[in-house]
Amino acid sequence: MSHLFDPPALPSAPIRGLEARFPIRRIFCVGRNYEAHAKEMGVQVDREAPFYFTKSAFAYVASGATVKYPPESANYHYEMELVAAIGKAGFRIPVTTALDHVFGYACGLDMTRRDLQLKAREERRPWDLGKDFENSAVLSAIVPVAEIGHPSKGRIELTVNGSVRQSSDLALLIHPVPALVAHLSRFYHLMPGDLIYTGTPEGVGPVVAGDRIEGAIDHVGSIALTIAPAE
Ligand code: MN
Repeated sequence: MSHLFDPPALPSAPIRGLEARFPIRRIFCVGRNYEAHAKEMGVQVDREAPFYFTKSAFAYVASGATVKYPPESANYHYEMELVAAIGKAGFRIPVTTALDHVFGYACGLDMTRRDLQLKAREERRPWDLGKDFENSAVLSAIVPVAEIGHPSKGRIELTVNGSVRQSSDLALLIHPVPALVAHLSRFYHLMPGDLIYTGTPEGVGPVVAGDRIEGAIDHVGSIALTIAPAE
């Protein structure tokens, strides 16, 4: 079969302790999954059901990268998140077996053009321009469940230039990973390579060119991003 142009390689993330990389299929992101973050955004949480937005796999960028301040924004925010990496296909997965579908976990930064997201929210338009843009899905190495199990509690923290901006605990997730996998799989056939960014705790805020973001989650690892001037 020939293609008009070379098909781009699928983005993939390193896996701690393995030579093989993790090919990234779809990126699902959960909104408002910590009470204190929903509050700071001025919105109610929905305890009944989570909600989602998506990012293209091509929004992936590896931890440690330097990225340019994104275009058409003047309010570029970090959001530190636990990411679950799906390793086994499933549809309508019961919550009791949901964790069997998780291959591993990583630290993620759901980078956000907050001004564009809030404008879209206000105008009842989709969030894509605020959320799904180049280099907006930052990801650390994926750590296999075989190594760390399933973290359901533990510190999640983010610093900018060394000062703490986000500090919370995974135990405060409104919809924890088993609930997310079960719920999301009612709407999609989950497949190996799918990522779920599980939402950010309170303390989100802006970064500017020259800033260095560092984040960590107990047992999972750490993540970093440096911001360069806009092009
Ligand atoms: Mn987020």
